[in-house]
Amino acid sequence: MIPQETVGKILDASQIAEVVGDFVTLKRRGGDFVACCPFHNEKTPSFHVSPTRGIYKCFGCGKAGSSVGFLMEHEHMTYTEALRYLANKYHIEIVEKDETPEEIAARQRGESLYIVSDFASKFFVNALSTTEGRSIGYAYFKSRGLTDETIQKYGLGWAPKSKHALTDAATMAGYKAEYLVETGLCAQTQYEGGGVMDRFYDRVIFPIHSVSGRVIAFGGRTLYSDYKEKGIGKYVNSKESEIYVKSRSLYGIWFAKNEIAKKDKCYLVEGYLDVLSMHQLGITNVVASSGTSLTEDQIKIIKRFTNNVTIMYDGDAAGIHAAMRGIGMILKEGMDVKIVLIPDGDDPDSYSRKHTLSEVESFIAANEQDFIQFKTDLLLKDAGDDPLKRANLINDIADTIAEIPDAVKRSVYADSCGRKFNIDSQILFARIKSTMEKTIVDEKLSRSRATYSSSVSSAPAQSTGTPSGRPLQAVATDPFDLIEENKVLGPTERDILYFLLTHGSDPMEFETDSEFYNPDEQTSVADFICGSFEEDNLRFYNSAYQNVYDLYMDAYYSEEAPSQDTIVRRLLNSPDDKVRFISSQLSMEKYQLTVQSFKDSLTTTSSWLVVSVPRLLLNNLERRIDNQLNEVKKSMAEKKDDMAAQMSLMEEFMALTENKKLVRAKLGKERED
Ligand SMILES: [Zn+2]
Repeated sequence: MIPQETVGKILDASQIAEVVGDFVTLKRRGGDFVACCPFHNEKTPSFHVSPTRGIYKCFGCGKAGSSVGFLMEHEHMTYTEALRYLANKYHIEIVEKDETPEEIAARQRGESLYIVSDFASKFFVNALSTTEGRSIGYAYFKSRGLTDETIQKYGLGWAPKSKHALTDAATMAGYKAEYLVETGLCAQTQYEGGGVMDRFYDRVIFPIHSVSGRVIAFGGRTLYSDYKEKGIGKYVNSKESEIYVKSRSLYGIWFAKNEIAKKDKCYLVEGYLDVLSMHQLGITNVVASSGTSLTEDQIKIIKRFTNNVTIMYDGDAAGIHAAMRGIGMILKEGMDVKIVLIPDGDDPDSYSRKHTLSEVESFIAANEQDFIQFKTDLLLKDAGDDPLKRANLINDIADTIAEIPDAVKRSVYADSCGRKFNIDSQILFARIKSTMEKTIVDEKLSRSRATYSSSVSSAPAQSTGTPSGRPLQAVATDPFDLIEENKVLGPTERDILYFLLTHGSDPMEFETDSEFYNPDEQTSVADFICGSFEEDNLRFYNSAYQNVYDLYMDAYYSEEAPSQDTIVRRLLNSPDDKVRFISSQLSMEKYQLTVQSFKDSLTTTSSWLVVSVPRLLLNNLERRIDNQLNEVKKSMAEKKDDMAAQMSLMEEFMALTENKKLVRAKLGKERED
């Protein structure tokens, strides 16, 4: 467990714009930041980040929360993982308490892998400036046209020839052999008494960063041209570990992501050097899938930043066919795919070293081809006049088009391909339709399986009062549906919390002729609401709201007397999912009140509060009476044979109706008799 005071420190240090900014490119707008929402697809930004409130909120899909909430939602971290991530980001030491030995081991394990990777990356960088490193590794980077600045920025390094250099240095520094092996930096060996030896030696090193900038793996390239004769691999890569999943990482993404978002385009290349040379030239929205053919997870990473992918490949046959793989997946994600073939004999690395920035840019602009057109042309050339080949080709293209989720795009492609093949586009449509139907059936089947297994596996987590792990999902219709037990009272109870969370400490300056005027005491919104609740001994009907109310009031009236912002921030960072959700939704000015808002017609916030808060409490009272009336009606229906009960229920009913009339009169909804 992380001690409460450390949690406080972490939350105080966390800057929402910095935290979100590591994953989403934010543009300043006034005091806030905006971006296209990372949680839903959109073209115009409705995702707001408010540094003063410490929260984000999307006015498109309703997702909202604090720094912690963002990490949980976006990075799928647990509450504790998010805190640890923030502690690391803001250099706050976590001194744990009450941890079981298993917990300590698990935590240290994950964190240790990062720490060991970080140590190794520094080790390789330092090794580059040793005599050996300079004469071989550094000389190689220079020969590839890389500047000192690039070498430094991307953390390029040298793994010494000795097979024990890293192992020895890490052991000396106190790192456990276990973690060295687990990260794939070292290997257990049967020789020399079963010790540990380096996996990376006599190679130049390219560190691989996660989307959030931590070193998670390494790629090592040998500089021997006769590596095949020597029986060694050209590349050695880190093996997969808790922190590194190959199919979920992209080389260069940490350095490229902001530019990808800004340019709304991602260039995809093959190798480390392709990325580095293009970045050095000034085209920094470039990443590499590093050897593996593109995976769905890699596409999802790119999709966080843009919908436009341009694949750059060597113009040779192998390059072209490599480009073909994985494209169906990109199309399926609704992304637009283009292709640029680098002229024969060059790759993106060599091409960008031979040309200036503007030459490369204009080359790309002139040679970027739509993927489907490209594939059609290519296959047409291959097929020649062979009728069978042509028929297969037409089906192949139709199946590719069927992957595109957008109907308009599909039809444009089908028309243009029909013209190219000189066939009726209806024939293409027929094939596209049948492929799509087949896909839908397949997906339905796999989805029903997935839903079933997730509902089974998530069941135990729901057993405690506060569902742990995942944040509450905002549902498009009414996100509060999930937490409200009483729908009659829900809306006005929300309104009360809204006023507490946005204006709780603001004074209510009643006019001297107001029934609420009190010359002896300054009344705040919180005072007023609390007073009214206590006077009538009221509680919220919805337990989640009562909980937020209690937390707010406890803090507000505590000796420490924290500021409004502090109280709200604490609620936003609560370990309780519901508290976080409610406070993030209701601490924003833009929340849609159910009370008629007079804000626009009144000049000051104070005069608005003076009118709205008492009215809001009356509204709430009216709903409480409605709720009681419902109860009475229900009882009357249940006990319709019990005459005595009917009589007393009737009396109750009439009293409530009378009460309601009074309240409505006060609200101006009905005239007082
Ligand atoms: Zn959204």
